[in-house]
Amino acid sequence: MIRRYLRGSGRVLVFVFVASVIWLLLDIAVLRMSFSDGNLHLLKERVIREKELLKQRAEVNQSTKRDYGHPVLRTEDTGSVSPDMARVYRQGDKRRNSTLLKSQSAEMQEAPAKKPVDLPVNDTPLLKNFNQSSNIDRRKDAEIKPMNTTEKVKDEAEQKEPPATTKRAIEENHIRKFSNSYQKTGGVHRVLSLDVTSAPRDPAAVGQFGQAAVVPGDKDAEVKERWDEGFFNVFLSDRIPVDRGVPDTRPEICAQNLVHDNLPSTSVIFCFVDEVWSTLLRSVHSVINRSPPHLLKEIILVDDFSTKDNLKDALDKYMSQFPKVRIIRLKERQGLIRARLAGAAVAKGEVLTFLDSHVECNVGWLEPLLERVYLDRRKVPCPVIEVISDQDLSYKMVDNFQRGIFKWPLVFGWNALSNEYVKKKNMTAADPIRCPVMAGGLFSIDRKYFYELGAYDPGLDVWGGENMEISFKIWMCGGEIEIIPCSRVGHIFRDQNPYKFPKDRRKTVERNLARVAEVWLDEYKELFYGHGYHHLLDIRVIDVGNLTEQIELRNRLKCKSFKWYLDNVYPEMDSPLVKAKGLVFNRGLRKCLTLQNYSLSFEMCDLSKQSQHFNYTWLRNIRQQDLCVVPQVKYNRLVVESCDRAMAGQRWLHKSSNSALAEHLLVEVSPNQLCLEASPQGDNLHFANCAAKNAHQKWQFTNNFSP
Ligand code: UDP
Ligand code: MN
Repeated sequence: MIRRYLRGSGRVLVFVFVASVIWLLLDIAVLRMSFSDGNLHLLKERVIREKELLKQRAEVNQSTKRDYGHPVLRTEDTGSVSPDMARVYRQGDKRRNSTLLKSQSAEMQEAPAKKPVDLPVNDTPLLKNFNQSSNIDRRKDAEIKPMNTTEKVKDEAEQKEPPATTKRAIEENHIRKFSNSYQKTGGVHRVLSLDVTSAPRDPAAVGQFGQAAVVPGDKDAEVKERWDEGFFNVFLSDRIPVDRGVPDTRPEICAQNLVHDNLPSTSVIFCFVDEVWSTLLRSVHSVINRSPPHLLKEIILVDDFSTKDNLKDALDKYMSQFPKVRIIRLKERQGLIRARLAGAAVAKGEVLTFLDSHVECNVGWLEPLLERVYLDRRKVPCPVIEVISDQDLSYKMVDNFQRGIFKWPLVFGWNALSNEYVKKKNMTAADPIRCPVMAGGLFSIDRKYFYELGAYDPGLDVWGGENMEISFKIWMCGGEIEIIPCSRVGHIFRDQNPYKFPKDRRKTVERNLARVAEVWLDEYKELFYGHGYHHLLDIRVIDVGNLTEQIELRNRLKCKSFKWYLDNVYPEMDSPLVKAKGLVFNRGLRKCLTLQNYSLSFEMCDLSKQSQHFNYTWLRNIRQQDLCVVPQVKYNRLVVESCDRAMAGQRWLHKSSNSALAEHLLVEVSPNQLCLEASPQGDNLHFANCAAKNAHQKWQFTNNFSP
């Protein structure tokens, strides 16, 4: 048998194998030699550097994603409804005729089962039939008449009439709270907790009431096969009723909140491209079921040139049952930013409400948003975005007191308010939360105000960066972004975009972000580029397009500076403008670098001498005003040149104190690791192989700001 291997192709194989072993042994020997050369620390340094680069690359990749993770979930349990989750269900849930829930919560088992009640058809299409089995019904099981919204309000108020004194107290408190900003015309009512369905909900239906849907044992392959249609469990989505109920996850006090009777109406705009049919329908139904009809002017579906067949005629046909739904079809793919603009352009409501096409609006979601706009049209309220699991489509409640923030280089993220902050500001669970950056897809804005702000930058393509753009614009030009805890909308967070990018995805997002940085970040754009986007500074790599209009808009609106934004809106973000600054002290010489008349030398350190002050910038330049200290490796010397942010050759790597080459200054662009070294006499600066212990290669800045 062995002999057979030594014949023909077997012989070749054996030869290759033996050669590989010899090669490997040689390799190990060479490695040993380099270790014994005393280069161990350099090797370590290289490993560290590679790790750093990898980390940086990962961070940059991360930043082209909308969300690093999703908002923090309220329950640990990621599966079905946990007792914790059950506790947050409102009164109505306890009475829900749900066998599923009954089996899971003792508390609910005790609750009397409630029969769904069918109502006679009323002339408002949206109020055709009430299904009072839904989770928001707080009324008795008594016979229910069809009624208009105002009647319903009265009825609700009668049923739950708080003692007169309490009611007055609530009202007075409300008025006191907002007396600075709102016109005291018009009455107030308790927020409407509507949930209308055209037929009674089947409590046994898959995923009903936002519960986890379970894949039948033999369907795993189908789940997998259909996953890429939406990058979530499309198989399950298709099995869940398009008008399922969801748990009312609002903080308890929300249902008691008062809102004005004469709130502005809204156009709800959904943009979509190749959205999953059942998910799109569920999004639309959730708006129709849970929005007060008199406030819902219309629903605009903007089809961003989808390719799926069912999103054409079948969708038209399906939506024709809802007079309020309008479908706009774009003739070519525009991307979500221009698609939203197209929707806004035809909208007739006083307020625009943008939603993603895979959401489920919770009960009472709309009025709290519109109330904020009513109080001050420059407020841009966002609902709390809850999580619809991409795996089992369960509706998951998220923690209260979270806001949207960004990290460099403009990466969106969620941030929990600290307990101290909540206490200091005396916040209740229902209070609006100031939000430095909105997550993106879900918000309401006064229509006219949206246009006063110049809407979105239409130069942004497909997806990405538009949430940063609109957030900076709103805050810096006089508006406010808020998260409204009493308004909650579930959203399917996905790991990937399920649609194609006409151009390269990464490049599209990077270009969008660079546009935003160039228009809004002022001097802070160095932080954006310096945190992994150096390559975007090279105009051969990226053309951000014409920015004139955007810059003019910013001037015309007299928007504040980015520094103002950081200081006032997001003061927790520590953003030093440089990585390090001050005197540049050489440890070996015990003298400081001095720049005078374009020439470098060493002097006794003196903080009062400006000629000794340098910045080590985020673009990794060593810089004094507009002059940069530049390595000229070829001639083994330094030169002083005008700084050019795109020139990689002007960059240095200053190693932090925990690095193997602590405090060394490495030439960034060089085939070998080269360190800047001062001659022992201090009359010369040159490059040498990096040596960890060489004090003449160690440079200290007076102040270091980055770790
Ligand atoms: N969208 C669109 N055109 C595009 C990209 C996205 O109309 O070119 C829609 C998409 O269908 C969704 C919304 O814009 O309804 C937001 O996109 P997505 O959900 O992918 O963003 P994410 O939630 O991941 O931020
Ligand atoms: Mn989305």
